[in-house]
Parts: sequence; structure tokens; C-alpha cells
Amino acid sequence: MALIVQKYGGTSVADAGRIRNVARRIVDAHERGNGVVAVVSAMGKRTDELLALANDVSAHSHPRELDMLLTAGERVTMALVAMAIEDLGVPATSFTGSQAGILTTGKHGQAEIREIRAHRVREGLDDGKVVIVAGFQGVDPESKDVTTLGRGGSDATAVALAASLGADVCEIFTDVDGVYTADPRVVPNASKLEDVTFEEMLELASAGAGVLMPRSVEFGRRFNIPIHVRSSFHDGEGTWVKEETMEQAIVRGIAHRSDEAKVTVYQVPDTPGVAAALFEGLADSGVNVDMIVQNVSHDGTTDISFTVPLVSVDIAEEQSTKVAVAVGAGGVSIDEGIARVSVVGIGMKTEAGIAARMFRLLSDRGINIQMISTSPVRISCVISGDEAIEAVRVLHTGLGLNNAEST
Ligand code: ASP
Ligand code: MG
Repeated sequence: MALIVQKYGGTSVADAGRIRNVARRIVDAHERGNGVVAVVSAMGKRTDELLALANDVSAHSHPRELDMLLTAGERVTMALVAMAIEDLGVPATSFTGSQAGILTTGKHGQAEIREIRAHRVREGLDDGKVVIVAGFQGVDPESKDVTTLGRGGSDATAVALAASLGADVCEIFTDVDGVYTADPRVVPNASKLEDVTFEEMLELASAGAGVLMPRSVEFGRRFNIPIHVRSSFHDGEGTWVKEETMEQAIVRGIAHRSDEAKVTVYQVPDTPGVAAALFEGLADSGVNVDMIVQNVSHDGTTDISFTVPLVSVDIAEEQSTKVAVAVGAGGVSIDEGIARVSVVGIGMKTEAGIAARMFRLLSDRGINIQMISTSPVRISCVISGDEAIEAVRVLHTGLGLNNAEST
């Protein structure tokens, strides 16, 4: 008997009919003789609706109460799924994150899982029940307050729970068939990947492939839990995320995101301590800085550019301006119209020349590269946002992905 943790996203549980469909699938897995734990997300766009409602009621931030509100979304789903499973003649129990023993840090809205004490989940399984767990949430054992794990956090709940229970597999059921060589809405002939390594998936997820929350991939890698990303609407194989893959692709996929802005602090005095002051200030105000590029000019000053999430652009501008004034820099400019395009593949570790090919393909289309950053398995370029789609298509074709393994 295998132990399976399944996760169903919002689209898969969007209405009563879909909830019954999900219940059917869970019962099928149970009837094949497996122990089944199912982690569920809030129905459809419920989390967004609750956020909008909170904004309508109050213009202020109430981190604790917001988490109380948002965790209700998953709680609705878990109870309805459990009811639908019992109607199919299989005993089921639902637990909130707190009841499932998911202990987190106290940072509301961005809590991190510290420990899982899943004895109630285990007891339920030992009693022959299907266990349903509300995703995206936990409890801070010190304050005893409920917390949420950040958007898309049900993926993290599922993989962390799979690790803690020693599950054989974590299945992420979603509204797409798996992980693709590029977003199929942008590249119609993108193909579904049979498998992808944890390392590649982590880069793809951080670079904008929305199918898995990056933190869930980290858990998978740390505890070596294979993750199967698959459709909740049919039985076909999806994409396996695992330690090693059959083929070592040089380029596995292309990802892009347009939810960042570029901040440039120009004519910064070229002396020690300026970058430290700038990025300390940003870190203290909770701004997540990503790519950083510094250009030396000839008059003893430098320009420092970096990217920040669009949602933090106002606070990043305010902080940078403060530091710019303090150190006598020329000023700060903001560009909200950027996109980041990334090429990811494990084979880049050994194969030289992919960066050069990427830059040539972009330049042949007259696409200007504003910033570049790399990791051992990724090359990312910041370009103008209105060229993002063209860039993804050109790279997908030019790097040979149109003929990638397909199913
Ligand atoms: N419902 C939460 C969200 O929309 C968590 C999740 O779906 O994973 O972000
Ligand atoms: Mg999701």
C-alpha cells in the first residue's frame, strides 16, 4: 500500500460539480488500496474575492485578521470535499492546517512551515479514513494564531506534508496537463515535459512558470519527494519533478514574468558602503530585491539598477530616494514596463554557448537586453515588457524546443 498526498487547486474545486469530481478521484485512489491525504485550495477565485472584500471594508492593514479571513476559503473546500467523499461511502475527516499540526513562523501572509506534527492525520489514515487538509495555512505555536503561507501556498502544504508523512508521491492536480516548455497560451506548440529536475523546476517556478509555488519545489528537493503535476480533469500522465531525469536537456524550458519593475539609482558616488546602505534600507522595509546590476561610469559615479516586485515598487522608490539623497546620488528612476525572460536547463552546466545564442536570437529581432543574470542552470534577461511574448516565441523556436519531447 502506498501513501499518496494529493493537492487540488482552486480551479479543480471551483463549484459543487467539480468538488464531486475531485471526491471521485480521491475515492478511486483510496479504493486502489492507497492511503490518501488530500490538500485542497479555496474554491475558484475565492482568495482574491476575500482579499477584495477586506480592502472594501478597511484601507488599513490587519495582518492577523486577514489571515483569519483568508484561511476560511480553504476551510470551506475541505468540509465540502469531505462530505462528497462520505457520500461515496468512504469515511473522511477534514482538518484545518492547525489541526493537521502544521506549525509555522508568525509572519502573517508569508509564514514558513517550521515543523509538522501530523499525528491526527496519521490516526485518521490508520482508521482507514481519507484525510482532507486545508492548504495554505498553519498556526504559530507561540501566539496560537493562524497564519497563511503566501499565495499558491497549498502546494507547499502538500509537499511538506508528503515529506513529513514519508509519502511515496505528492500529486499536484491542476487545470493544466503538466509543466510545458513554455506557457502554452504564449507558445501554442509548446510541449509538455515528461520530467524535469527539482533544480530546473525551482528555476522555472521562480522565473514565472506559475504551475508550482517555488517553496514547494524546495521541500520536494530537500526531502526527495517526487512531485507529479497533472490534470484534475483526466487520467493522463503529467510531468514528474524529481531528482534526476532520463534525458539531460540542454534547454528544458522558457519562462517569463511581467510582475516586476526596474529601479535605477543613478550617479551614485563610487565609494564603499553605498550599495550596503541602499540594500539594507530595502531589506528593512521588506522589499524583495532580485537582479542587481551596477555600471561604472567615467566621472567616479555608478548607476545601480535592480528589480523588485511591482507590488513593492512604491516603497522601493521611497527607500531608494532616501538613500540617494543621503549619499548625494543623481536621482532615482522607475520602469514598470519590463519583463524577464529566462532559459532553463540542467545541461547548461556543461554546455557552453547557450547565453550567446540567447542574446543573438534576441538581437536578431531587435530586442534590447537591459539586464542579465545567471545561475548554473538559468539565464535571464530583462527586456521591455511589450517584447516579452515575441522574445519567448523566438527563443522557443531558436533554441530547438519546438521539437522537444512531447506526449
Ligand atoms: N488559495 C490560496 C491562493 O489563492 C492558496 C492556493 O491556492 O494555493 O493563493
Ligand atoms: Mg497554484
